[in-house]
Amino acid sequence: MSQQNPFESALVLLRQAAEKMQLEDSVLKILLVPERVIELSLPLKKDSGELEIIRGYRVQYNNWLGPYKGGLRFHPQVDMNEVKALAFWMTIKNAVCNVPFGGGKGGLEIDPKTLSKEELERLTREFAKELAPNVGPEVDVPAPDVNTNGQIMDWFRDEYSKVVGKDSPAVVTGKPVGKGGSLGREEATGMGGFFVLEQLVEKLSLEKPLTVAVQGFGNVGLHIARLLSENGYKVVALSDSKGGVSDLENGFDVREAESNKKEKGSLGESYPDKKITNEELLELPVDILVPAALEGVINKDNAGKIQAKIILEMANGPITAEGDEILNQKEIKVVPDVLANSGGVTVSYFEWYQNMHKEEWSEEDVNKKLKEKMVSSFAEVWGIHEEKNVNFRTAAYILAIQRLLDSRLHVEPVQGDALREESEENFEEPVFNLPAGSN
Ligand code: GLU
Repeated sequence: MSQQNPFESALVLLRQAAEKMQLEDSVLKILLVPERVIELSLPLKKDSGELEIIRGYRVQYNNWLGPYKGGLRFHPQVDMNEVKALAFWMTIKNAVCNVPFGGGKGGLEIDPKTLSKEELERLTREFAKELAPNVGPEVDVPAPDVNTNGQIMDWFRDEYSKVVGKDSPAVVTGKPVGKGGSLGREEATGMGGFFVLEQLVEKLSLEKPLTVAVQGFGNVGLHIARLLSENGYKVVALSDSKGGVSDLENGFDVREAESNKKEKGSLGESYPDKKITNEELLELPVDILVPAALEGVINKDNAGKIQAKIILEMANGPITAEGDEILNQKEIKVVPDVLANSGGVTVSYFEWYQNMHKEEWSEEDVNKKLKEKMVSSFAEVWGIHEEKNVNFRTAAYILAIQRLLDSRLHVEPVQGDALREESEENFEEPVFNLPAGSN
């Protein structure tokens, strides 16, 4: 894993886009820092009776477009810099996919697999209680992320509702279906990425079958791998946190791999003669590489060895700024996370909307609306990519920053320069034409 601080790395990409679009310095200064950071020490009573203190975070990066929105991640690697980076990316992502949300993110520094269900519930409820004064359907709306799911969102909503004394399903999204969750939310991130890739394949007139390596077999990796294998792509490598497997010649039946993993515990155990490492997977000679696990996996150490022609970033921030530069030089087409994985938050928006309006949409309706959103976001990014001759990431950032700027049009200028201009205008009033004696 690269040592580059993910937040610093994220800001390098912001600065690049800002330069290309000649963004005013005063706006850039605001976008380089989060609006608010919350850091918590949460007491967790273990089943053994022992007390452990767990670090918790919520970063509310920017709310120009609406309530802060973004997931909660439970992972031992979670720290303030990671959460800041993730909250920044949510700001850009929500603007790219044009949902009325700002960007936020949170997390706990914990491996939930080491906790019993009761411990996980107690910890989640503690987190919700502590965050309650700073979240809410119109303030900040968390959702699932790495190692969190519908059950955790349901505990969060329940605890928050107790604190505010009113059932508030819209305080979180990604809830279980039947408990205020939207149909189609679980598959949405993977499906959104699939729609984007299909658009790109069409634009580039690529011939199927195309070979794909997917890193990560969680909610995102699994669903996109499934869709790809069922729609004319050859999935030749898969991986989970224990390692990868590859079969360049025959590929994998993803549904079969899924049930084998369930039975044997890991993909490696399911296909012992096809084992590779997670690092090797990234360097395979494939048409499309889909990193769908954690950030920073493609960095200055391995970017030069990537052989894929297209990278679809389904994880958040899987490529560091240094890695990105190398891939650009190699002319590898990178579909950035803020576009590729925006299907999740798009359907989160649909869920929030249904909760706020007491509606329930069919799965068909959700998927249809998701497709429309992904196709139009792709078209807008593609348009800027062509018009300004910039890569997809810079194009997506330009689109997002423009939307953020547009949202500020109604706000009074606060910069010193603007105020000075106003007083200079006042000074130039034609006072000499006033009648004598008038004051
Ligand atoms: N965690 C997801 C993401 O990174 C979804 C966030 C949400 O639905 O608010 O985009």
